[in-house]
Amino acid sequence: SAKAAGRNRYQFYSQGMAERSNERLSMEQGLRRAIEEEQLLVYYQPQVDLADGRIFGVEALVRWNHPELGMIPPVRFIPIAEESGVIDSLGRWVLERACRDILGLSESLGQQLGLAVNVSAREFTREDFVVTVRDTLARTGFPPACLELEITESTLQVIEQSVEILGALKAIGISISIDDFGTGYSSLSVLRDLPIDRIKIDRSFVQYLPEKPDGIAIVEAIVAIATSMHMEIIVEGIERPEQAAILFRLGCGAGQGYLFSRPVPHAALVHLLTQG
Ligand code: C2E
Ligand code: MG
Ligand code: MG
Ligand code: MG
Repeated sequence: SAKAAGRNRYQFYSQGMAERSNERLSMEQGLRRAIEEEQLLVYYQPQVDLADGRIFGVEALVRWNHPELGMIPPVRFIPIAEESGVIDSLGRWVLERACRDILGLSESLGQQLGLAVNVSAREFTREDFVVTVRDTLARTGFPPACLELEITESTLQVIEQSVEILGALKAIGISISIDDFGTGYSSLSVLRDLPIDRIKIDRSFVQYLPEKPDGIAIVEAIVAIATSMHMEIIVEGIERPEQAAILFRLGCGAGQGYLFSRPVPHAALVHLLTQG
């Protein structure tokens, strides 16, 4: 009967939900262990000057090398880390690891590389966030002027709170960039009201160039705004030489993407930068 079918359906759903929440719970517990047992890794993706192809910095991107499941991408565990609060210790770990790796590499290169680190809304709005960042810089000796924190537009939704936190970060000498720019809602007012150093143009405006030039008008508009507000630009997700050429012609000074390099482990980054 329909009633029985309905009951079965209900049972089916609740079983599915229970499985999903079990999976989340075990992911959450696994993540806490991952930090202690050093299963997390920081990969680095080069940031390149589009004028001459020179690597001037890197973005740190976390990976989880799970003992049974293998390498898990951040889209699968960052949301769980954010909801459960594990992101606080994860974020601190990534920042410290990346500062140490990139300072060491910069010293052996004789040239200080820039370092960009992603920060979640939850970390950013924690009362001790600024102190944590300042302590990590002091402990590692990483120069504040070479650190950039990547924040999304939605993180900056509460403007008064953001003004205060960003002011404190700027006072330390750190730069701020807006990640995935153009995909949020408050883009323009955020730029007007907050001390932003750099805009990261989202990959979605680039990925169909040059065949579908829809993204060009948006890139042009973002470049115009950034120029008039004295902000720098970096473009995400450049995969092909034609894309780099178009973006450079449109006034974008810097880029990241598989064309230049995928995110790579520390050892591979060292190799890439020392072998030229
Ligand atoms: P995101 O910060 O916007 O990072 C860019 C993502 O695009 C990275 O994915 C990168 O591997 C990928 N990517 C770079 N170049 C290309 C390209 O040419 N083509 C394509 N298709 N993709 C490209 P990934 O490493 O999987 O990271 C995904 C997201 O996870 C990041 O997006 C960021 O929001 C978050 N994330 C990663 N590491 C951390 C972290 O340490 N802390 C926090 N809070 N979030 C992180
Ligand atoms: Mg990013
Ligand atoms: Mg991004
Ligand atoms: Mg993106």
